[in-house]
Amino acid sequence: MAHHLQEVIARIEKARIAYSRHQVIKLVAISKYWQDSQILELYHGGQRAFGENKVQDLKSKSELLDEYPIQWHFVGNIQENKINALIQLKPALIHSIDSLRTAQAFQMRLEREGKVQKALLQINSSREESKSGVDPQMAKEIYLQIQESCPNLILEGLMSIGAHTQDQKEIQKSFEITQKIYETLPNAKVLSMGMSGDFEIAIACGANLVRIGSALIE
Ligand SMILES: *Cc1c(COP(=O)(O)O)cnc(C)c1O
Repeated sequence: MAHHLQEVIARIEKARIAYSRHQVIKLVAISKYWQDSQILELYHGGQRAFGENKVQDLKSKSELLDEYPIQWHFVGNIQENKINALIQLKPALIHSIDSLRTAQAFQMRLEREGKVQKALLQINSSREESKSGVDPQMAKEIYLQIQESCPNLILEGLMSIGAHTQDQKEIQKSFEITQKIYETLPNAKVLSMGMSGDFEIAIACGANLVRIGSALIE
């Protein structure tokens, strides 16, 4: 078993310098395809932030690796009946709030339990049916509505998945749409874009958090 953490970090660094020497970029390793032993390999390589896309997997892996100071993220589609379970797991950041309705469902439960939760609003910038997220044209309004009506859900920025295509220009365009919205938001500080196949393009579009799975362990 071999991982490619150093190679991926070197590629992120190269893209970061090309974008701006002042940029700070966080790597969240998406561990959804991995066994605990593979997560630990990366952990021993120095990686501390990991992300899962299913509530059940987040629960089982975070409980199994409870003794390690790992920061867990949630990046998957949100089903309303899993919100309570997700809140109990206290992820560092939920990347995938996909509507005002979802945000309000969190708010109701968070308020009841006296908790707060950091989150990002997901933008469907490629407007693909298969993807969750809000329409780019509605995004700013929805973001501000959530900030106003959901005080226990702390919005810190945006998440987006690049267009599902080999066409680099199309992918870039989809990231630029999210970047433009991000730049208009007051106090937003996290722009979560870029996966194994497109993180360099995302960094060139201002991403400051990349979510990488398969490129780390093949
Ligand atoms: C799986 C997943 C990733 C990582 O994908 P790779 O192509 O394996 O790097 C990133 N973000 C989300 C939302 C995912 O579901």
